[in-house]
Amino acid sequence: RTPIRLDSTEDGDSGNWPRQNSLSLKEWDIPYDDLHLLESIGKGRFGTVHRALWHGDVAVKLLKEDYLDDEHMLEAFKLEVANFKKTRHENLVLFMGACMNPPHLAIVTSLCKGNTLYTYIHARRDKFTINRTTLVAQQISQGMGYLHARGIHHKDLRTKNIFLENGKVIITDFGLFSSTKLLYCEMGLGVPNGWLCYLAPELMRALMPVKPTEEILPFSKASDVYSFGTVWYELLCGEFPFKSQPPESVIWQVGRGMKQTLANLQTSRDVKDILMLCWSFQADDRPDFAKLLSLLERLPKKRLARSPSHPVQLSRSAES
Ligand code: ATP
Repeated sequence: RTPIRLDSTEDGDSGNWPRQNSLSLKEWDIPYDDLHLLESIGKGRFGTVHRALWHGDVAVKLLKEDYLDDEHMLEAFKLEVANFKKTRHENLVLFMGACMNPPHLAIVTSLCKGNTLYTYIHARRDKFTINRTTLVAQQISQGMGYLHARGIHHKDLRTKNIFLENGKVIITDFGLFSSTKLLYCEMGLGVPNGWLCYLAPELMRALMPVKPTEEILPFSKASDVYSFGTVWYELLCGEFPFKSQPPESVIWQVGRGMKQTLANLQTSRDVKDILMLCWSFQADDRPDFAKLLSLLERLPKKRLARSPSHPVQLSRSAES
C-alpha cells in the first residue's frame, strides 16, 4: 500500500492553488507512530475516535480497516482531509493533521472537552432559555456560513456533531464521508436513530430502497440549512421532530412537504418563522446562513429579572 498523496490535483481542490501550496500539504502529515493513542471515545460509521496525546490532548479518528481496500472510501478520506485543511474558524473543530499511510488512516483534530448539544438536550434534558438558544444558533450560523463560503457542505449537521465548550459552539464532522452507501446492508437501507429528521425533502425523495452504486443524495448549502432548522427545533423543544414516528412515515411526510406541527411550541412568531423558513420545501426558499444570522440578531432579547445584590433600603429615614 502506498501513502496517499495530497497534491493540488488530487485533493478535491479546484486546481487553481499555487504549486507551493501542494508542497505545504506535507506539513499536515502526522506519522502514526508519533501519536500516543489513549482510550476510545466512541464509534461512528467510519471508525473509532480516540483520545490521544500529540503535543497535548487531541482526538484521533481512525478509519475502519474494512474500508482500506475500498477505492470509494479512500477517495472520501482524501476529500475529508482536503476539506479540513481549508478551515480555520473559532466555531469549527481545529484540524491538526492526518495520518496518510495505510493501514493507518486517521484524522487528528483538537479534542472537544465539553458535551455535545445532543447530550445537553436529549440525555441531560437541560432546558435552554431563548437567549441561550439564540446565542448557540448564532455561533452555529457563523461556523456554517464560513464553511459554505469555503465551498464546503457539512452534510451531517446535527446536535451530535455540535459541541458546547464553556458557552462556545464547536462544529465537528463536516464534509465527511457522509457516503449514503454505508447506510445500506443486505436488508436494505438502515437508518441511524435521529438521522432522518435532519434530511431535507429533496434528500428524502432521493433515498432508494436498494444500495445505490454511487452517491445519491443531492447535499447542498440549502440541505445544511434544513438540518440547522432541526437543530433550532431541538434547542427550542428539547426533542426531535417527528418523535417516535416510524422512518417510512417520516420519509413519506417530509418528502411530500409536510412539517412537524408547531402548535404546542410556546414561543414568539419570529422564532417559529425562522424554523419554517429553514424547513421550506423548496431549497431555493431557504435562507442562507448570512440571512439567518441577521434574523437571529433581530430576535428580541428576553430581559432577565435581576435580584439586586445589595438591596437598597428605602426607609423613611434613608429617604430624608
Ligand atoms: P456517525 O459516524 O454516524 O457520524 P458519530 O458522529 O457518533 O456517528 P463519530 O463522529 O465517529 O461518530 O464520533 C464518535 C464519538 O467521538 C462521538 O461520541 C463524538 O462525540 C466523539 N468525538 C468526535 N470528534 C471528537 C472531538 N474532536 N473531540 C471529542 N470527541 C469527539
